[in-house]
Order: sequence, then structure tokens, then C-alpha cells
Amino acid sequence: MKKLLTLLAVIILGVLSLTIVRTWLHQADSQDQLPEQSAAATAELDSAQLDIEAISQRLSEAIQIKTISYSREHKPGPEFNEFISWLKLNYAEVFAQLELTVLNDYTLLLRWEGQSTNSPVLLSAHYDVVPVIPGTAKLWQQPPFSGHVDSTHIWGRGALDDKSAVIALLEATSLMLKQGISPKRTVYLAFTHDEEIGSEKGSKAIAEYLQTNNIKLAWSLDEGSFVLSDMIDGMPMPVASINVAEKGYLNIELSVQGEGGHSSVPPKQTAIGVLSQAVSRVQNAPMEGGLEGVSAEMFDVLSRYMPFRQRFFFANRWLFNSALEKQMSEISFANAMLRTTTAPTMISGGVKENVLPIYTSANINFRLHPRDSVENVVDHVEKVIDDPRVKIQSKEAQEASPVASTQSEGFKLLANASRENFGDVIVTPSITVGGTDSKYYQLVAKDSFRFNPMVIGKEDISGFHGNNERISIENMRLAVLFYARLIQSLEP
Ligand SMILES: [Zn+2]
Repeated sequence: MKKLLTLLAVIILGVLSLTIVRTWLHQADSQDQLPEQSAAATAELDSAQLDIEAISQRLSEAIQIKTISYSREHKPGPEFNEFISWLKLNYAEVFAQLELTVLNDYTLLLRWEGQSTNSPVLLSAHYDVVPVIPGTAKLWQQPPFSGHVDSTHIWGRGALDDKSAVIALLEATSLMLKQGISPKRTVYLAFTHDEEIGSEKGSKAIAEYLQTNNIKLAWSLDEGSFVLSDMIDGMPMPVASINVAEKGYLNIELSVQGEGGHSSVPPKQTAIGVLSQAVSRVQNAPMEGGLEGVSAEMFDVLSRYMPFRQRFFFANRWLFNSALEKQMSEISFANAMLRTTTAPTMISGGVKENVLPIYTSANINFRLHPRDSVENVVDHVEKVIDDPRVKIQSKEAQEASPVASTQSEGFKLLANASRENFGDVIVTPSITVGGTDSKYYQLVAKDSFRFNPMVIGKEDISGFHGNNERISIENMRLAVLFYARLIQSLEP
């Protein structure tokens, strides 16, 4: 007995030491860092020539042109042509020196000839914006289309999403052209006009154009995440979240047909009862998830910067993986990284207090993790509901994107440019939870990345499609330099 106890103590002590050693090793400086960018590669660009006041003014003017995407049925207004004319006037040298292709009247594709014939890259941003929700303009500190510039910020719809990227890309190109610097590899610049209503005429047309002309991209870069400054708890420095995939999208409509009649003699379950039971079954049976693929890579990077207690669990996933996944599933942000999410978003049924409902329906919105397909989510829903009275219909569906490699040339260049541009940042891959133009670029690019080179914090988030959208002047300077550095770092 004594021997057995001793053996047990030795085992426990051994496991404990192992977990502590592993935690100690699981630190930022032990991570396989990507090679640092050499300063020489970008020494050519004279950033002193960057006139931030003029750049802020131009973003302000761009914001004032109301290129609003209302809906797919709604044709682009005259402001879209006005915006294109404004671009041509303000970036005359770019339009003079790069080859322009206009697709579906409003989407612009500029080709910047490189020194080599290797696969080109594509840098993209959209210039359409979402409307300001009626009645909310008065909640803005500055009128939403004023383009107001104060000592620190440029205000207005599109300041973050995504006119700042349009302007920064053009400013970077213009700066390089003025200094006689051309890219070593051919670069396409894309400015799309319908990202906010599904990209059917913009990035889709670009992908088709490139396909028709047999042009295969090495990689593409479009909006997605940012450098997140105080958004992830416990991180000692900003996190440059370079998104390597985007989640898919699926709406499933559940409906139940009832008999109707007077509510004084109801059946055991009314149509509403059947439907709500189905909704709750789906809600209570989340799709399988786990720390694998991009999610695992992301948390492997982030956890190295966490306090010892959290680091302990991530460093010892061989022992704590299921407990860790369970705990992460309780946190909305982490849960969305681990699995396909389930959100019942609409429900309707019944016409009168004392009338049995005849028709009831509900919508459940899923955001598909790259591990799931539309088909297996539908299968899962059918299995979980298991009730022939409930009609299950899938509506809008978009598969999750392929996952770009963090070992690829594109990721390395983006990581390097981020470190060079933003100083001490944690570079991690992640997943975009919403849809972007990249869903079409991925058809013609070996890898697609989603990242805006600007630093944002918690207080900026409400600006996305919301009120008081603004961007700091410093961010515009950083974004211009980032794009210029990135383009210059392209290898032949
Ligand atoms: Zn956007």
C-alpha cells in the first residue's frame, strides 16, 4: 500500500513539474517568430513627404460624397460617379500611370505593372457605405457626412469602413509614384462599390475578370480585422489580427402550420408551442467546436502573453483541453472562434389573443466555422429538431472560406509590415466573423487575407455601421505607410 502511495505521489509530482515547465516555456519569446523585416527593404521611401494634413482633407472630402449602398434593388446614385470623378481628379498621377479597368460601371481595378512576371497581388477596399439609420443622425457628435476634421480625428460614415483604406491605398501609391518607386511584383488595386450589399457586382466581377484573363493572384488583401489595442483582455500590447479566413453564413427558416380555431379548446401543443420547442432544441444543441486549425494557432499565440494562471491551461492542452474548450465556449468572442454559432434572430406567429395560430415561423442565423459546411449544419438542425411537424428550409447560404496559410509569403509580408509599422504588436492569425469582398477574391487568389492597417480600440467599435464613426489622423498616417511598406516589400 505504502509503495502504491509513493508511486502515486511521484506521478503527481512528475505531472505537476511537467505542466509548470511547459507553462514556463509557453511564453512570447519562445514562439517561432517570423523573420524580422530588414530596415533596408523600405529605406527607399521618404516618408517625410507624406502630407498628413492634405491626406486628412482628402479623406474628409471622400466621406462627404454619399456613396450609400441601400439595398440590392436600389441602383447606385449619382454620387458614385461623382466619387469616381473625384478620385480621378485627386489622384491624377495614379490614374495616369496605372491601367484602369471599370467593371459594372462603378468598380475600379487598377493594374500597377511590376518588374517581374510572377503572380500578382491584389489590394482592395470598398467605397460604398451603409446608410445612417433614420433618426440617429442627431446622436452623432458631428454630422455623419460632414467629414469634420478636428485636431485628432476625421469624422463620418466610411471613416473606418472602408473609405479610409481606399484613401490610404491611393495615397501610398501616389507617394511611391512621386518618388519613382515601382513594385517588384505587379499589384492590382481594387475599389469596389457594393460590398455592403453582397459584392455581386463588385468583387465578384473582379474575380470573373481575372479568371477570364487567366490571372492567378499570389494573394489578396481586403478589409477584415485591425490592430486591436484594448480589445482582448490581458494582452500587454496591441494585437495585429491578420485574418486568414472568413466564416460562412446560413439562414434557416423553421415553420409550423397550425389548425387554427378557438383558444378555449386548444390541442396539446399549438403551432407556437411546436415551433418554440424546435427553436429551443436548436439553441441548446450548439454545433461541435474545438481548438484546432486557425483557432488553435490564434490562441497559441495569444496565450503566450497571458498571466501565468491562464497560460498554464493553454500550455498544457494535452491535459486540460476539454475543460479549456468548455470554458471558452462560455465566452461569446472565444466561442465564435471555436465553432459555428447559432442565433435565433426572428420569430412570428399568431394574430389574436384568443385565436390558435395558423402559421408560425422563425429564422435561425448560423455563422459557419471553416470546419462545417452548409450541408452538415442543415443535417444537424434536422437531426436535433426531429419533428415532422416542423418544416426546415435553408435560405441565404455562403460556405466558410478556405483558410490561408500562416506559412505563406503573403502572411509573412503582412506580419513583417505590421511589426515594422506598429512597433510592439502581437501578430496573430484569426477569422473574420462577417462577410467581405474576399469571398470572391478567394476564387482567384492562392491565399486571401483580411486586415486593415489601423489601430482601433473598444471605443471605436460602435462606429462600425453605427454612430460617431471616425478615424484618427495618426491612423491614416500609419495606414499609408503600411501599404507603401507592404508594396515595397513584395519580392520579384
Ligand atoms: Zn466594410
